[in-house]
Amino acid sequence: MLYVKAPAKINLTLDVLYKRPDQYHEVEMIMTTVDLADRIGLESRADGQIKIVSTDNFVPDDQRNFAYQAAELLKNTYGIKEGVTISIEKQIPIAAGLAGGSSDAAATLRGLNELWNLNLTMDELAEHGAKIGSDVSFCVYGGTALATGRGEKIKELSAPPTCWVVLAKPKIGVSTADVYGGLNIEGLQHPNTSEMIKAIETEDYELMCNSLGNVLETVTFNLHPEVITIKEQMQRFGADAVLMSGSGPTVFGLVENEARVSRIYNGLRGFCEEVYVVRMLGERNPLA
Ligand code: ATP
Repeated sequence: MLYVKAPAKINLTLDVLYKRPDQYHEVEMIMTTVDLADRIGLESRADGQIKIVSTDNFVPDDQRNFAYQAAELLKNTYGIKEGVTISIEKQIPIAAGLAGGSSDAAATLRGLNELWNLNLTMDELAEHGAKIGSDVSFCVYGGTALATGRGEKIKELSAPPTCWVVLAKPKIGVSTADVYGGLNIEGLQHPNTSEMIKAIETEDYELMCNSLGNVLETVTFNLHPEVITIKEQMQRFGADAVLMSGSGPTVFGLVENEARVSRIYNGLRGFCEEVYVVRMLGERNPLA
């Protein structure tokens, strides 16, 4: 069995520039991987089939699973006769804005590249990833990056300033399509993406905190007001800066002072079941 890690991501920024003629939104976002990860196990099958086994009943076990789609894509493109059993040990909350499904697909691409001796480059794997979903390309590389286009054009960035990240996920799932559907592009308050890039390049923690921004926040807040409560609580317990990740509902807080982390964690645990303390993984590195 070959094991591959599939880490979650958070958005330090998420901006929508306009809606394209092909109906996708042109985005600009800075994403970074964190050390909350699913574990993907890959085992070759002689019968040529693709099977999904998961510890989580909410993970689809058929073609709807992004990891299944990743395996099918490589199998069909490169005429692979073998099949594969994909075991997904789920740690990343589902439909949470943390790209769990996309990361499982990316890990499957990286893992099968090895298992099936395909010798594909990361860029080639990322190109395949984009056919499955907009966030899959980023997840192939991991680390920290500026993503543009519909999210599939990746420009590598250096590691953000070091800090703790507290993640809190309210007990609701959010449909990314619904959130984008509710977005009014005219009235958006755009985050300052270039200031965030500067913060990362100059390792300026304060500037990073001040440059966090996500245009989807107000849409998700309107759909699910409990997400605002989590954000307010995270601020009240002493996080330096707080933002919703992706289309939500997960909210993350950045914290520099280690002593404050447990206060925030314990405070949030009072009314939110899923709270995690994680670190950013920083730079891109071979995750497979
Ligand atoms: P993003 O941040 O990219 O918008 P997300 O974290 O909000 O993604 P996912 O956890 O990827 O959302 O789940 C979105 C949907 O994808 C779920 O409703 C689920 O049915 C489906 N899905 C497909 N494959 C997977 C997978 N391997 N793990 C979890 N969900 C999956």
